[in-house]
Amino acid sequence: MPTLKDREVGIFFWAEPDAVATVRTVKGCGVTSGQLALDGHADLSPANAAAWKAALAAEDFHIFTVFAAYEGESYNDIPTVERTVGFIPKATRAERELRTRAVIDFGAVLGVKSFGCHVGYIPHDPAHPEYVAVRDMVRRIADYAATFGMTYCLETGQEPAVQLLEFFKDVARPNVKINFDPANMILYGSGEPIAAFRLLGQHVISVHGKDGDWPDAATPGALGTERLLGEGSVNIPKFMGVLRETGYVGPVCVESGVHGEEQRWVTLSKAVALLNSLR
Ligand code: MG
Repeated sequence: MPTLKDREVGIFFWAEPDAVATVRTVKGCGVTSGQLALDGHADLSPANAAAWKAALAAEDFHIFTVFAAYEGESYNDIPTVERTVGFIPKATRAERELRTRAVIDFGAVLGVKSFGCHVGYIPHDPAHPEYVAVRDMVRRIADYAATFGMTYCLETGQEPAVQLLEFFKDVARPNVKINFDPANMILYGSGEPIAAFRLLGQHVISVHGKDGDWPDAATPGALGTERLLGEGSVNIPKFMGVLRETGYVGPVCVESGVHGEEQRWVTLSKAVALLNSLR
């Protein structure tokens, strides 16, 4: 395992079929760690898990978290997110629970100590049957992750920090933690990210380096716009200062989907350099 520093800067990246090539490309951006995302089509077979395990060992690359995304999810606008993302859609809940367990199994083979995903828009009313069903699913997944010594990270964004904290407390599992994404707070219009971090910080074990601008108030249901790191409304220098000041020592992984494939690795490298200058 590479030597990791406080607020180690890594990259959130998607698993491509060639594990070694993927890890080498990510390392080319100047990092030796990151978070591995597995979409709904990713190969979760034992053979592929073994290939990833070997690639990570050969490249001396550390994975903090395995993230799951699910077939049928779409982030076009807020109503679409409400309808399609995470554990909220009833029709896919059972199959996504199975898929989640398979992603956790995959991560366990790699020796990864954390799992994360978007739960989706959690109903506000704790007595609502769908709230209860989703909360109970989160508990089952957390308990399953715990059997491998893994945490389960809730990703921020789809609800204000106060509501996420209430849900977190209601789930009441010691291995449930938070992956804090400052840009998501802005993109979903869920609240000022630095204040949100101050509220949730003691439960945060990983952070996304992502930036964005607030939704256009004149367009109901619109999401905000993701920006290059440092060019959006998060105020990345101030945010990094708050991480230091509050004693946060976990990873900060650049997550970026705003650029065309050609520019992607160039902009990721620049984002890594920016965060390293601020960590
Ligand atoms: Mg994120």
